[in-house]
Amino acid sequence: MRRAAEVGKMDFLKLDFTDPKKWQLIANVLQYESSESWWEEYGSWAIDEMQSAHDVKSMLPIWHGKQIKENQTKNTRNYKKGTCDHCGAHFCYGGAFKNLETGQIAIVGNICASTVLNLTIDGRADKLLRKKIKSAKTRHENKIAREQRLLKIETFDADLKAAILLDNYVCKSIKQYYLNTGDITDRQKTLLIKLLEESRAVQEKLPAPRKIAVEEGKGVEITGSVISIKWKEGFAFNSRIMMMLVESVKGFRIYGTVPKSLIVEDLQPGDKISFTANVEKSEKDESFGFFKRPRKAKRN
Ligand SMILES: [Zn+2]
Repeated sequence: MRRAAEVGKMDFLKLDFTDPKKWQLIANVLQYESSESWWEEYGSWAIDEMQSAHDVKSMLPIWHGKQIKENQTKNTRNYKKGTCDHCGAHFCYGGAFKNLETGQIAIVGNICASTVLNLTIDGRADKLLRKKIKSAKTRHENKIAREQRLLKIETFDADLKAAILLDNYVCKSIKQYYLNTGDITDRQKTLLIKLLEESRAVQEKLPAPRKIAVEEGKGVEITGSVISIKWKEGFAFNSRIMMMLVESVKGFRIYGTVPKSLIVEDLQPGDKISFTANVEKSEKDESFGFFKRPRKAKRN
């Protein structure tokens, strides 16, 4: 590691570690910005894990993100590249060491900290942390990919779109397969279209929907099923809002934003839900309305 680091451009301040006794551990460091996507999920976990990895938890602070830059000696390898000041390796978890003579502050990965500087920093925390970060990043990427695939359904051929959104367990499982992989096989397409045709044949035999007036007011309790879901552009740049059409068990239909708690649960057309919202009737059709401020939402 040392060799490889020295071959590169030596444009950073080299710190002298020849006498480990001169370096004193003054903080634990976690090399991530709290703005990174995984942080929301694991930031506090990582800090707890680091604290429990040390016997000196009550004494040492934990630096992460900007705190490291603010406290460390400027222009060192870690300052410029984010790697270990001792060996140049990448690390997530390590220690800040103060040189008792010069006052310099080095940022060192946990391996060098425990082997070279002879101070016990538990490598377990680093290992676990890397694993957690990796899985949080993968999960985050998958979530984004699934959202994009869900949006892409809007651009499907009309029949294929109608078929994949059908309230039918086969269609639902094909939809899940598509959301996970981004792919629909020809056999799945054929099957979807066949199921769509069957469902249309059944629909034709059903009586026309009842025209029941929308129940208006503030805090109306709605129980019903999701008829369709779509994404629309939000007000903020690059944001999207998930909308749903709901048919109440009483017979009327209302449209509005999907409550946050239901987005997390991967809401599907056909799902039975209940929630409370402020409801207004449409001017053109008394059996259709719009809801706002959905709350107390749950799946039934
Ligand atoms: Zn190192």
